[in-house]
Amino acid sequence: MTNKTLLKNGVVLTLDKKIGNFHQADVLIEGTKILAVAPNLTAEGAQVIDASDMIVMPGFVDTHRHIWEGTLRNIATDLPLEGEAGYRSVVLNTLAPVYRPEDAYVGNLVGLYSALDAGITTILDWSHIQATREHGDAIVKALQESGIRAVFAYGYPAWKEPDANQDMWVRDIAKQYFSSKDQLLTFALAPLGPEVTSLEVAKANWQLARELDARITVHVGVGAAGRQGKLAAMGKSGLLKDDTTYVHCTTLSDEEIKMIADTGGTISISAPTEMMMGHGLPPIQKFIDAGLRPSLSVDAETNMTNDMFTQMRTVNSLQKSVIFEKKLARKGGLAAFLSARDVIEFATIEGARANGLLNKAGTLTPGKQADLILLRTDRPNILPVNDPVSAVTWGMDTSNVDSVFVAGKALKRGGKLLNVDLDVLMQKAYASRDYIIEKSDFKLPAI
Ligand SMILES: [Zn+2]
Repeated sequence: MTNKTLLKNGVVLTLDKKIGNFHQADVLIEGTKILAVAPNLTAEGAQVIDASDMIVMPGFVDTHRHIWEGTLRNIATDLPLEGEAGYRSVVLNTLAPVYRPEDAYVGNLVGLYSALDAGITTILDWSHIQATREHGDAIVKALQESGIRAVFAYGYPAWKEPDANQDMWVRDIAKQYFSSKDQLLTFALAPLGPEVTSLEVAKANWQLARELDARITVHVGVGAAGRQGKLAAMGKSGLLKDDTTYVHCTTLSDEEIKMIADTGGTISISAPTEMMMGHGLPPIQKFIDAGLRPSLSVDAETNMTNDMFTQMRTVNSLQKSVIFEKKLARKGGLAAFLSARDVIEFATIEGARANGLLNKAGTLTPGKQADLILLRTDRPNILPVNDPVSAVTWGMDTSNVDSVFVAGKALKRGGKLLNVDLDVLMQKAYASRDYIIEKSDFKLPAI
């Protein structure tokens, strides 16, 4: 009995430029890692999986999702971010405050299994539901149970002042669950940031993250608040470093975008929600011009679907449409179009980089963790496959996700999730949803 698995005869997109991509090759997994990628591999005693009607590629990486909102799916699609009946008011100030630890747990389970189902193998949980110490335990339990690779980004509640013990809880949780970096879950801090809190609070949060050797993920450049130069003030205080991912960045100044680039920061954009909620038009070209290659994120399932196919297509279409508009207006100095290859890298390599996991994930490189997906090419929505990269980027959807492996372990095979009872999950989701709605006195939209 060996612990080897051999994926035979797939179209293999390693996305590793040194190794290249293959119209037909094999991927050999040993334990948690990728051992080899090449045509015609053999491995005695290995479990062999026929990948002949599949594209084999790295799992997708989501760099910012408020996963606890899983049970609130599609509840805020017609709401802007701000305003009396906006997302902040309804989701963060009305619904979030009634969440018990078990509601955070169930919301996370729903979101995590949907991510795995959609071929996402690494996700950053931007978890600003931490009303008590027990909420943190509940979220970690859900992350562990799902089997996904995740960054638990501990966030402060947005609807109230932090608890007097909040920073102690952060230290406790970091110590209890994240003393090793050699595990599926890693730790980050998700402060509300200088556009929401005072500069002093933001500075204290940054110091705490660095004391704990945790990466930082922060919303900046969000709507009108993003135009106040708060990030520039942080930068002038010397706080911007390469351990930070800046989420949205839609209304940052050119100077602030340059500060991020100069200090080695990473970007996470959630183009569909930014466009529908009023964050500002995602300035994709400004990032590219500054030398920043963005990662992609679903953000909030209250508003947006859970997959990276939607993210890739939105970013590619938006960047192209801005250039085409300039061309129609007969403006010069047009930028180059992003390619399908660019955006598939945003959804994998750049995601792994922004989550601090590029040494483990993002490409099918021998020595890295075996986080990979098999995408069916024999479905009517995609056959015949003429260009595999464009097929993934422009042609496929979640119905093509046949298999999902995280650290060599199969979590989805033959189009079915393996480690969850969906009937039980559904019961838990409705029970928690009903409690949240009743307790908060929120009315679900009429139909
Ligand atoms: Zn967000």
